[in-house]
Amino acid sequence: MMIAAASSTLLQHVSSVSVANIVRPGFRSLSAASARNLSTAAAAAAASSSPRSLSAAQSDTRVLLGLSEPELQQLAVDLGQEGYRGKQLHHLIYKRKVKEVDDFSQLPKAFRNVLQEAGWKVGRSPIFRTVTAADGTIKLLIKLEDNRLIETVGIPVNDDKGLTRLTACVSSQVGCPLRCSFCATGKGGFSRNLQAHEIVEQVLAIEEIFKHRVTNVVFMGMGEPMLNLKAVLGAHRCLNKDVEIGQRMITISTVGVPNTIKKLASHKLQSTLAFRYTNCHSLHASNQKLRETIVPSAKSYPLDAIMQDCKDYFLQTSRRVSFEYALLAGVNDKTEHAVELAELLQNWGRNYHVNLIPFNPIEGSDYQRPTKKGVLNFASTLEARKVTVSIRQPRGMDASAACGQLRNQFQKSPLLTDSEISPPPETELAVAC
Ligand code: SF4
Repeated sequence: MMIAAASSTLLQHVSSVSVANIVRPGFRSLSAASARNLSTAAAAAAASSSPRSLSAAQSDTRVLLGLSEPELQQLAVDLGQEGYRGKQLHHLIYKRKVKEVDDFSQLPKAFRNVLQEAGWKVGRSPIFRTVTAADGTIKLLIKLEDNRLIETVGIPVNDDKGLTRLTACVSSQVGCPLRCSFCATGKGGFSRNLQAHEIVEQVLAIEEIFKHRVTNVVFMGMGEPMLNLKAVLGAHRCLNKDVEIGQRMITISTVGVPNTIKKLASHKLQSTLAFRYTNCHSLHASNQKLRETIVPSAKSYPLDAIMQDCKDYFLQTSRRVSFEYALLAGVNDKTEHAVELAELLQNWGRNYHVNLIPFNPIEGSDYQRPTKKGVLNFASTLEARKVTVSIRQPRGMDASAACGQLRNQFQKSPLLTDSEISPPPETELAVAC
């Protein structure tokens, strides 16, 4: 048995056409999601990305973050500069991590003025709140341009020589329409999809806080990545090519959205697909009936269909699929569930790994954390059936541990203005993804 954290990768081609007039896909305020099935959730997620949903004020926003080096070179040319200015822009944004156009001191003042007059900005958002757990895990709330708050978690691993690994757990949506019964994010409702640069900036914010490069990225924060696949793929491209995080160090997780794993597999990314993680995202239960009681979306995506898609993902990418199993005491942590899970995986081949995630209790949920003995018994049952298994170490338990928990303390409604966001309390909080 090993103790591990998942990692993986993905990549998308971005064309380098004229970008001087690029306007980022906009924001839209959806009502709190009442999505009861995946098609409704997918429709809500798609609507939240629609260019038609731009607000007047935000339609003029032009964001540099997320653009590739060729795109930045093209932008420079379109703005009457030499192409090498784009290379300088790339260096300032991704290497120096400068946050304001005004601070691009390597560039001529005239070019900075042209950028600003054309409405371009870097696209970095302020950090609204940080909470540090005793184990060094830090959860950030980032305040987006439309005042919405998203969670990002930095999880450090240290040895004698200091910090050896820094994992960023990033959100892909503001809230989530899927409403898994144990999840604080699901309880908080859904606002909109994140844009690619809003995912990338979470990683840069973690680097800023820790003063260390992020080594691993997991799409396991707020939201279902497969409902915002275009932006997730865009962010992945940028994180790999521009921020220079290896594809194998990036993991994309899902609770399962029909017809999306095939799309992801078609990109042949060298990333791990995690099916799916801690309080967010997990296989959650080893049989279909039990899954449906825990993950409402499971009704639209039976286990057999998921297993076929996971098998296809492996065949397309040669990347093993990780099954992230959230253990809920007395619900899905019994020996019989472990036996069922082992049989399910054995029926579909050998290229799977199970990561057990003892549940982090959240407010308003009846689910409980399993005992250590129960977790070890579950793992042993799998191992006895030759299933490779790891147990995720709980991180950030004293820092609003569960996904969505911290955000919900400040922003319960998905549609808040500045004045409606609660001021940070004086007391220390708890966090975890
Ligand atoms: S577990 Fe994941 S998919 Fe389910 S509601 Fe929470 S964020 Fe959404």
